[in-house]
Formats: sequence, structure tokens, C-alpha cells
Amino acid sequence: MNTLTPLKNEPPMVESFIPPQRLLMGAGPSRVHKDVLNIMSQTTIGHLDPEMIKMMDELKEMLRYTFQTKNSLTFPVSGPGSLGMEACVNNIVEPNQKVLIAINGVFGARMAEVARRAGADVITTEDEWGKAVDINKVKDAIDSNPEISTLGFVHAETSTGVMSDAGALCQLAANNNIMTIVDTVTSLAGIPVNVDVWGADAVYSGTQKCLSCPPGLSPVTFSEKAVEKVLNRSSPVQSWLLDLSLVANYWQGDSQSGVRTYHHTAPVNALMGLHEALRRVVAEGLDGVWARHRETSNIIVTGLESMGFKMLVDQSVRLPELLTVLLPTNVEDGPVRSRLLNEFNIEISAGLGPFAGKLWRIGVMGEGARPKNAQKLLEAIDECLKN
Ligand SMILES: *Cc1c(COP(=O)(O)O)cnc(C)c1O
Repeated sequence: MNTLTPLKNEPPMVESFIPPQRLLMGAGPSRVHKDVLNIMSQTTIGHLDPEMIKMMDELKEMLRYTFQTKNSLTFPVSGPGSLGMEACVNNIVEPNQKVLIAINGVFGARMAEVARRAGADVITTEDEWGKAVDINKVKDAIDSNPEISTLGFVHAETSTGVMSDAGALCQLAANNNIMTIVDTVTSLAGIPVNVDVWGADAVYSGTQKCLSCPPGLSPVTFSEKAVEKVLNRSSPVQSWLLDLSLVANYWQGDSQSGVRTYHHTAPVNALMGLHEALRRVVAEGLDGVWARHRETSNIIVTGLESMGFKMLVDQSVRLPELLTVLLPTNVEDGPVRSRLLNEFNIEISAGLGPFAGKLWRIGVMGEGARPKNAQKLLEAIDECLKN
């Protein structure tokens, strides 16, 4: 007698997925080095295996170097950059607290929305897209709202290609006894990020921008003041998964014995990939990494300007790793980007919001930031403009 229920649905016919070979020169993910991919395809080990714990300790050490911090609580959150944002906001901010978010693009607006959903009383300053956060507006907002507990802002706005003065903003906040949440998703390992010099409290990043790792992890670091604040909350963190006081049992271990315990199953192979990506950054040295981003970016800017393109952002606050390029009237956005992808296997990104159809976002991130890739991109664009 057959007790199995007969299957009602036929199995779908699916073949193994083989991705096309693309040169990623958009807003992320960026190109990943084959050594990182090779490590990720090694065998999976247990998330509490002693060898895994050793690897995690090295990973934290390399993250501290990359963030330029001595913060003990420094580790990757198991999720994309937006989850790092959620982790910082939900741990630092308590319901009904007044929070100031400085918005100058898509990701500042996202942080304000995350803070609202965390129950904060959110006030914002706004700057025109393409401009840096205006510190005077932030100062005015702080002066007229003495109960502000936290300031959040984006160091490198990927929607516009603008860098804001993270050091000055953190210092202003610290002088007013205000905690800071800083988005370094597109800046980490692209331009100088100096968490301790800035005096930033809760900082998050992502793996798929200048760290040149596949998406899915979000490095974070918390100052001692921030950890203190999380441990002394009046209400528990709303998200169980993101509660630092619980996650720390896995990433740091018991405060007495140091023994690591299960919190959630960490994405083992993704972490092995990040270890290798960070190892590459450490081996090259941050100075070298930053210089390579700058030099490759300069090649692209010079090349594009000679073809008639103009940069949106003033040179003083322009991100080398994310160029926002205004299109001359004779260049059609969609068709040229499609040709770049389909004929030349090069991905660049479209403009967002008010810039849709008006500009391109060219990523010069991580492994993409090499002169030979700049040449390939310039030659391909030149070819597309000829006919
Ligand atoms: C990409 C990005 C994010 C979000 O990261 P995801 O991995 O897409 O969730 C946040 N902030 C900035 C500045 C980014 O560039």
C-alpha cells in the first residue's frame, strides 16, 4: 500500500545557473576577486568550530584596522548594509527619543525612516541632492532642540556621489553630548574612514561596495559609550536578531569565560569570503587602497570630461568611488547603459530620484578601481557614442 500522497505539482525543469561575466562598475555590488570566490566555495564548517572562532577573531581584528578603531565590539552583522543600519538605529535609539537625521540623498532618508519605525521622534535637516550635509543646519537644529539624543548621517551618499564631513559632524555631536550613527557603506576602504579620530559611536558599512566582497554582510563597530548605552536601555531592543547584548555572546563570548555560544547560525561561507576580502585590503594597506581608488577615478573623470560629460559634484566633496556623471543632451540614458551591459558586459548604474535619466552613477569600487577597468569602460562608452 502506498501511503505517500501523490505529488500534485510537476517538478520544474531548471538548469544550473551560470552567471554572465560582467565588469561591475555601478553603485554596487562591485567586482569580486577570484581569491575571495575561491575561499567562499571551500567546505562549510560549523559556526562554533574552534577554527571558525579563530577566523572570526582575525576578521574582527582586520575590521578594526579597516575602520581605524580600537572598539572591542566590531563585527559583521548577518545581513546587507540596510541591516547594519537597522542594527545601529535599533540598538542606540529608544522609543520616543528625539533623533536628528541629516538627509542629503536616498540613504539619509532611509535612515530617517528606520528611526521612525524604531519609535523615535525624528527631526531632519535637508540638503539639496548633490551637496554635502550642511553642518550649520545641523548646528541650528541642535541649538533649537536641546533634547536631541542622537545624530545620524551618511558619510558617502551613494545616490549622489557626495562626501560629508564626518569628523566635524561627530565632533559637533560629541560637544553637545549627542550620540552619532554614521553610514560608511560606500566609504569604507574607498576613502579615509577614521572612526576613533572622528569619535563616532555606532558605525555600519557593507561588503559589496569598496570591500569588493559579495553582498550580504554589514560590518559594524560600536564605541564604549555606545555599548554602555545599549546595556543600560530602559526597554529591550525591539529586534531579537539585532540585539547587540545577545549577538555579542557569539561574536565576543561570555564576558567572564569568553566562551562563544549560539545566537543565530552565522553565514559561515560568507564570513570566510569577507575574511579573504579584508586580508587583501590589509595586505595592500589602506593608504594604497585609497590611492588606487583616487587614481582610477581620476582617469575616468578626465576621460569622460574629454568626451563632453560633466560631473555633478564639486571636486572638493566628490567621492572617487562613486562618480555622478551628467549626460550631454545627445546621450540617451537607457539605450547606452543597455549596450554597455549587453555588448561590453559592463554594468553602470542609473540616476536616482530627481536624477533619473539625467545622470549615470559610475562605481570605482574595490577590484573595479584598477586603471585597466577604467580604460575598458572609457573605450566602451566612446564606442557607444560613435554610433
Ligand atoms: C548600498 C548602501 C546602503 C544599503 O546597503 P544594502 O547592502 O543595499 O542594504 C546603505 N547606505 C549606503 C550609503 C549605501 O551605499
